[in-house]
Amino acid sequence: MKVGIIKNSWFERGKEMADEKSQLDLLRDKLTYSRTNCWNLFNSDRIMSFADDYKKILTAGKTEREYAMIAEEMLVANGYQKLPDTGNAYPTSLLQKKYYRSIKGKGVIAFFGGRRPLSEGVNLVASHIDSPRLDIKQNPLYEDSGFAFLDTHYYGGIKTYQWMNIPLALHGKIVRKDGTEVAISIGESALDPVFVISDILPHLARDYKSKTVGEVFKNEALDVIIGSLPIEFNEKEKEAVKLNMLKILHEKYQITEEDFLSAELEIVPRGEALDVGFDRSMILGYGHDDRICAYTSLKALLDMTEPPELSSCVLLLDKEEIGSEGNTGAKTKAIEEFFEDLIAVSGENIRLSKVFAKSACLSADVSAALDPHFKDAFEEKNAPYFHKGIVLSKYTGAGGKSGSSDASAEFVGKIRRLFNEQNVKFQTAELGKVDVGGGGTVAKYFGERGMEVIDAGPALLSMHAPYEICAKDDLYETYRAYSAFLAHHK
Ligand code: MN
Ligand code: MN
Repeated sequence: MKVGIIKNSWFERGKEMADEKSQLDLLRDKLTYSRTNCWNLFNSDRIMSFADDYKKILTAGKTEREYAMIAEEMLVANGYQKLPDTGNAYPTSLLQKKYYRSIKGKGVIAFFGGRRPLSEGVNLVASHIDSPRLDIKQNPLYEDSGFAFLDTHYYGGIKTYQWMNIPLALHGKIVRKDGTEVAISIGESALDPVFVISDILPHLARDYKSKTVGEVFKNEALDVIIGSLPIEFNEKEKEAVKLNMLKILHEKYQITEEDFLSAELEIVPRGEALDVGFDRSMILGYGHDDRICAYTSLKALLDMTEPPELSSCVLLLDKEEIGSEGNTGAKTKAIEEFFEDLIAVSGENIRLSKVFAKSACLSADVSAALDPHFKDAFEEKNAPYFHKGIVLSKYTGAGGKSGSSDASAEFVGKIRRLFNEQNVKFQTAELGKVDVGGGGTVAKYFGERGMEVIDAGPALLSMHAPYEICAKDDLYETYRAYSAFLAHHK
């Protein structure tokens, strides 16, 4: 729109504006359908190639263990070294130092030393690398009506029916009786078999229409078919199919039924992340929640060429989907241990609580994009949309913000100014309409440590479904947002 000359009379100016608007209307009628988005702000080749790299990592890292391993490989390839234990350390400047530490193989903490001392605080980006899935039980194997099954216990928030009748893969680790370990990944290669949970045909599903979803679909019934042939084709043998499965497993992995007792096996959707749409503007994949934030934050850290003012820290955590519990979730004291060791290495005379109190954290997690077919669940003014950039959520929680870490106006204002200065496209949102549900993130655990914290991550469609959907420009914008925060927040 052109800049009009200010007229003496409000009436004349008003008339001119009305003329401009009607011309604009004509133009809009002619050229639309369009809406503002961040796709065109940047080179779309860059967005596409960034998305291709992300798709490869998303496909390769389907469990927290696999993802943590990939992250460590990326860190080592970029010159990061294991943070020494305090006992071996002698004080040294942290400037430009690149350190990382594994959190029991299921999480990673990475650190890049800035120009200022730890006592002035650290910028952290914290995401999680566990995703909703079906875990194999400790005593999982049984046979029924000629089929062999593995019984599962779901992990995180799932909609039961979404896991039925789709190709499933088995990932994880088994520790044998003698302590030796075997890593498992079956179902991802085109040559591999897959696993499946059967569903009833519509012809015999009349009940489904009158019953509630909870009555029809039982999580206890999520048992995965793993085979159907009896051993040596001998149908008289009791549990001959189960025995055949054990024979195959023993031949291939040298395990017995008892070895399931000390195993962590996860059933996840099979297959690679794929482009969605004629325009290839979106990605369908398992575990965007929250590996999209894990990937973009780690990439932002690794791509930093100059040391930042304040030191940078990226955390990839486990167990967020079940409340950030245990020794690998956001509540773990492994985070304190890492920073205590950093303080020891730096030789600074400062208490850990002081470092945390000066620090700022982006709780890097996804939010739920407005779904046009389920608008009732959203409040449209405060719902996030695809192609509008990273989503800042001042608070999450359920009911009256219960379980939420509510970011202060001051901190939101600071992040808002930072993103504006760095030309990062962002939107603000909350999770659905008031009282339709709710959820939380790791934000509150960093708030409890005394840090300023706000939730920041891209919006997804079909969040927590076996295959979730993200927009490629939002993915790229999330990377730019984390880069801007790590490099420039102070
Ligand atoms: Mn999440
Ligand atoms: Mn989640």
